[in-house]
Amino acid sequence: MNNEAKTKSCAICGNSAHNRYFFAFERHMKIGDEFEYFECARCGCVQIARIPENIDKYYPNNYYSYEARQESGRFHAFVVRQIMRYRLGKPNLFGRLIYALHKEKPYGWMRKGTLDFDSSILDVGCGSGATILKMSCSGFRNVQGIDPFIEADIHYPNGICVEKKALSEIKEQYDFVMLHHSLEHMPDQYQAMKDLYKVLKPGHFALIRIPVS
Ligand SMILES: [Zn+2]
Repeated sequence: MNNEAKTKSCAICGNSAHNRYFFAFERHMKIGDEFEYFECARCGCVQIARIPENIDKYYPNNYYSYEARQESGRFHAFVVRQIMRYRLGKPNLFGRLIYALHKEKPYGWMRKGTLDFDSSILDVGCGSGATILKMSCSGFRNVQGIDPFIEADIHYPNGICVEKKALSEIKEQYDFVMLHHSLEHMPDQYQAMKDLYKVLKPGHFALIRIPVS
């Protein structure tokens, strides 16, 4: 371990004292490279000590979030739509029942009153756009995605677009902005939060989902 890495400050709270350092190996792509991480002694956040310069190497085109999911059948789309209607707070007994019986609680992150089928929605770091494609099929009419690591902009036949852009490049404002497991991939989370604030319409909400152990 070198001393430069051992004096790193936590990206969340700034603490650099008594942090616990350890090494982890890349497993997802089976490249096997070794990375140094540390766990902040103050806030508990686990983070990489140094972001590799060639980070594109770890987001190849077959990265799992870049694989467009197979179109589901009409019945499945119908069921998902009922669940979404229920999650949006619309009276829907069928959606409520399916949601209650479903182990994974699909779209459990949706909150009544925060969005509607006409809301303008931005998915940040969305890969190929699997989530917004599903949302579009389920009735959302104004969804868009961005991801700086895709090869080029993606235009789907149903009008859904994923642009090769970072959050800092977005000039428009949205009713709802989502980060599904993408904030932890951003090198400067504080700046990302400021950028996020700029792209949200005043008084509107963002959803940030991150992995927790
Ligand atoms: Zn911390």
